[in-house]
Amino acid sequence: MSAPMLTLDLAHRTAGGAPPANLPNLAGLTRAELQAALVESGAAPPEKAKMRASQLWRWIHHYGVVDFAAMSDISKDMRAVLAERFVVARPEVVERQVSRDGTRKWLIRMAPGIEVETVYIPDVGRAGALCVSSQVGCTLNCTFCHTGTQPLVRNLTAAEIVAQVQVARDDLGEWPSPKEDRRLSNIVFMGMGEPLYNLDNVGAAMDIISDNEGIAISRRRITVSTSGVVPELQPLGERTQAMLAISLHATNDELRDKLVPLNKKYPLAELIAGIRAYPGLSNARRVTFEYVMLKGVNDSPADARALVKLIQGIPAKINLIPFNPWPGAPYQCSDWSTIEAFAAILNRAGYASPIRTPRGRDILAACGQLKSESEKLRASERRRLAAEA
Ligand code: SAH
Ligand code: SF4
Repeated sequence: MSAPMLTLDLAHRTAGGAPPANLPNLAGLTRAELQAALVESGAAPPEKAKMRASQLWRWIHHYGVVDFAAMSDISKDMRAVLAERFVVARPEVVERQVSRDGTRKWLIRMAPGIEVETVYIPDVGRAGALCVSSQVGCTLNCTFCHTGTQPLVRNLTAAEIVAQVQVARDDLGEWPSPKEDRRLSNIVFMGMGEPLYNLDNVGAAMDIISDNEGIAISRRRITVSTSGVVPELQPLGERTQAMLAISLHATNDELRDKLVPLNKKYPLAELIAGIRAYPGLSNARRVTFEYVMLKGVNDSPADARALVKLIQGIPAKINLIPFNPWPGAPYQCSDWSTIEAFAAILNRAGYASPIRTPRGRDILAACGQLKSESEKLRASERRRLAAEA
């Protein structure tokens, strides 16, 4: 696309720089891990570790500091001990782009050859939503999704998921963690990857992000989107209390098998049953059905009526997503009048069905456009890159 955009190379000025390979980074540890790291390193005796971890936690997650020297209620001697053994650091921001509509996208290098994209979208949710990635690439091959063309490189760690929020907060200038008037109010796991194939790390990251003495984004403002990994729905709800979003896109198995091949493993009847049983589902905590509008494929009035029938009785919102094109994509976006007619049928059936305005298309930051250059490397290549870094 030819729309004007702003691209800044920030590789030379990330807060704190990439962590030295030899010192552990405290920035993305859970409270329990933080405490254990202090004891194991000898930085704090077991009886003091909890208090010390709480102090550090506030500095790292409430104030967002990346330098032990700024931690003014910790003695100078202790700060020196900490600085000898640990770092508090951000990963490298390789590229930052700002769309004409205010959407921001960061390409973040977590480790050599491990790059992910994170997108901030203003005016979504209460104030603005951060779309985070859970994997580098994806094992699933939904035919309309750009990420699906990038083979899975690996799962992100909890720390790497949290780092995406920290990088966004750095750039938005949102430290210390504000109680009100936040620009980053919601988190959606709708970036690269399938979060339910990385549930342990997504769960640990949510524990950190939602902690009240830190970033403090409530679990009710965190949405996990899945293509339909049915056996993980119950564990997701129990472990995280996250809001659920389901990438539905089709109302019959024949079409959904093509669009979302995972459907062959977990067909619609199983998926719908799994959603009905999602812990905590109620009118106040509805599931969001995402439905990408593909011209001539799934966008007829009959499809809209079939959708209403399929999800009958489920407390739900429906999010119609105009298809976002990417280079070589085999689909086109439905016409605007077709999308409106589709939405009208859903509205008449009593569903709020906002049409998601495409955001950040000019910087390939919209839904399903994310993809990084990271490719699966042989272990030997990864070691070589790590040695060079
Ligand atoms: N893997 C998860 C979360 C990431 S995808 C999932 O599939 O739900 C986030 C959302 O973007 C999903 O609803 C996905 O179906 C949608 N999406 C993917 N490619 C898209 C595209 N090209 N245009 C519009 N939406 C797309
Ligand atoms: Fe993976 Fe989601 Fe894209 Fe499907 S839509 S390929 S599950 S990221």
